[in-house]
Amino acid sequence: MQDVVKAYRKIVHLSFPPESSGKPIVCNLTKLFDLTFNILQASISSRQEGSLILELTGSEENYHKGVDYLKEHDISVQAIAQKISRDDDLCIDCGVCTALCPTHALYMDREKRTCLFDSEKCTACGKCTRVCPVNAMNIQISESDM
Ligand code: SF4
Ligand code: SF4
Repeated sequence: MQDVVKAYRKIVHLSFPPESSGKPIVCNLTKLFDLTFNILQASISSRQEGSLILELTGSEENYHKGVDYLKEHDISVQAIAQKISRDDDLCIDCGVCTALCPTHALYMDREKRTCLFDSEKCTACGKCTRVCPVNAMNIQISESDM
């Protein structure tokens, strides 16, 4: 029987110096270390310094190798914890997020035609924050252990 390696998942914040911004360093995490990445936030400053928040998934060993690889390329890496909250005043109950939420933390109350959020079921995957038309779903980030 094949060994099943449990997926290790971490959210990291990367800061790129201007000379690294155009290079495919992040793509190499997949090529070299078999890590999948999901870009949660990306920005670039007027001085061409890049900032990325990534969700990395793979084996724990490869995660650490990937982080070392990033650091070797002068990219600063900070692991962060991610928590999702909702601004109920902004939500228009459109239900778009409920179709994407993998844990059903967001779901419709069909009778009242409202969208409900059960934060206990939320795994902070961030999918809802990318589709909500009124930005009611927010990511709160804080530093965590690498
Ligand atoms: S962050 Fe992910 S799990 Fe949490 S409510 Fe949004 S879609 Fe659902
Ligand atoms: S996508 Fe946004 S506005 Fe629509 S139900 Fe979800 S949280 Fe509310």
